[in-house]
Amino acid sequence: MSERAAAAATAQGSAVIEALPRRPGGRELLDLGRDRDDLALVGGAVRDLLLGIVPKDFDVATDARPEQVKPLFRRALIIGRRFRLVHVMMGADTVEVSTFRGADPDTAQKDEHGRVLRDNVFGTQAEDARRRDFTVNALYFDPATEEVVDFHGGLADLKKRVLRVIGEPATRYREDPIRMLRGVRLSAKLGLRLDAATREPILELAPLMERVPPARLFDEMLKLLLSGHASACLRQLREVGLHKGLLPLLDVILEQPLGERFVTLALAQTDERVLAERPVSPAFLFAALLWHEVLAAWRGREARGERSIPALENAMDEVLDTQCAKLAITRKLTATMREVWGMQPRFEQRSGQRPYRLLEAPRFRMAYDFLALRAASGEVPAEFEAWWRAFQAADADTRKAMLLPETGPRKRRRRRRKKRPAAPTPAPA
Ligand code: ATP
Ligand code: MG
Repeated sequence: MSERAAAAATAQGSAVIEALPRRPGGRELLDLGRDRDDLALVGGAVRDLLLGIVPKDFDVATDARPEQVKPLFRRALIIGRRFRLVHVMMGADTVEVSTFRGADPDTAQKDEHGRVLRDNVFGTQAEDARRRDFTVNALYFDPATEEVVDFHGGLADLKKRVLRVIGEPATRYREDPIRMLRGVRLSAKLGLRLDAATREPILELAPLMERVPPARLFDEMLKLLLSGHASACLRQLREVGLHKGLLPLLDVILEQPLGERFVTLALAQTDERVLAERPVSPAFLFAALLWHEVLAAWRGREARGERSIPALENAMDEVLDTQCAKLAITRKLTATMREVWGMQPRFEQRSGQRPYRLLEAPRFRMAYDFLALRAASGEVPAEFEAWWRAFQAADADTRKAMLLPETGPRKRRRRRRKKRPAAPTPAPA
């Protein structure tokens, strides 16, 4: 580092020292780092502290080996098989302590598209910095010297509010295509502009997203959707041309007026909840993102003569099969998504005992919120959602008075049976 850069870095160091203790666990980390001269805070936390944002988590880098790091902490375990790192439990947080990595991307083993397959060699701090993705993510704060160590001009980029890939962007995206998605997420979340050279190759390289293992893609998508800036991220994804490879047909959904309104509302609602630190259900969010796919498949099947409920079941299978091939949405999540989708037709039944039974269903609240979103997007009449809102709040007598007469749905069913005499009795919902 030049003398001037070092001076700037020291000045920035005091900014980190000031901000760090405000985050729970930050004080402990600072004290710990002062005692040892080989631990540095790195990555997102340094970047966020310098931007005045509370970091989500802490990452620590060191030149000590995992087996040397582990005994330093009371609650720590070594994880990872290929590249081992230490997870340290500090209060409610898990701090990831990783030994500097040194795989030289030029000699690392890659597949035929340039994706790095093995990346598990220990190295120096400079090498560790070189293999990080963006300049602003390669800043190290050393509590012992109170300095920010900056190998790639990250401090200047932070000041200019620019997100810039370290090295040659196309090569770095080929090594690990997920970096394109990280770029979009971080720029939207932090309000940083994607540097022109960083943005430019994305459109052409977007198809490489197909090579990313589905579980990893799912993790990154989830981070993006739960970042509190999901709307901005999706807008940015579209702008750089990356949306097509992520959720199949997301582009199609976004181009249908109702689908777009629905997705936009769902994302806005999620962002609001995340920023207010209220819990968000990933299942609800994915159910929302894919609803118009399900709806289109469902309607298509009904038009081809399938009965409504089996048609919905089959549409859900179809959509989840397509989506899960690329995005490893977990089973637990898809089970909840199915419940939420599957309950939607049951809201149409507003007579007899059925509304009471629906109220008792385990996922009622989530399914009702989903209905509210459908109403807000204009897919179902607002009156419909208002009825359910009132029904939940009403006392027993009012509820009884609200019920619709029994005849409606039965008559319709009889008429339908007449049209298709061969069809078996519909299964109870
Ligand atoms: P946040 O935690 O706010 O989502 P982050 O930048 O800290 O953002 P992490 O996934 O916690 O993201 O990663 C920590 C650090 O590891 C990053 O700052 C970056 O230096 C490095 N890193 C993460 N993913 C990659 C990648 N795909 N390629 C290169 N470096 C990466
Ligand atoms: Mg992080």
